[in-house]
Amino acid sequence: MRISDILRVKGDQVVTVPPATSVERLLEVLAQHRIGAVVVSEDGRSVEGIVSERDIVRALAARGAAVLTEPVSTIQTTQVRTVSPDAHLEDVERLMTERRFRHVPVLTDDRLAGVVSIGDVVKFRIDELETERSTLADYITGERT
Ligand code: AMP
Repeated sequence: MRISDILRVKGDQVVTVPPATSVERLLEVLAQHRIGAVVVSEDGRSVEGIVSERDIVRALAARGAAVLTEPVSTIQTTQVRTVSPDAHLEDVERLMTERRFRHVPVLTDDRLAGVVSIGDVVKFRIDELETERSTLADYITGERT
């Protein structure tokens, strides 16, 4: 199973914000889209950083509410791990588990082609297990040969 199989179902939309966006505005974007992270990008296609709710929590704990008026570039992670659509789902699961992040941008020719979250991976796995289970059940009850 490859990352492109997930993107085919969920689509290639990626929510991005320019680096100068305030942390306060970032909170609105996360809430509005019901997501936990956005890619930081000036043009909406290249990846300059990633910023998740965890970065906001850490910055608030370290520096207090003053962080809300700072640009997201002050709290983003710049060493972003990305994958290609050809990457195997198992490898991306391992990457997320070992590096302890829940989001991985997908790039084609250095351009954003989607984003995969741990929620997408879990949903995909559950769907896969359900298909397997019902195929086996049909086979056992003789509804399929
Ligand atoms: P998350 O679990 O995705 O909310 O992120 C946890 C931490 O890892 C935060 O500091 C993020 O900025 C960072 N992070 C999230 N995704 C990535 C990624 N693909 N590459 C590098 N760092 C990331």
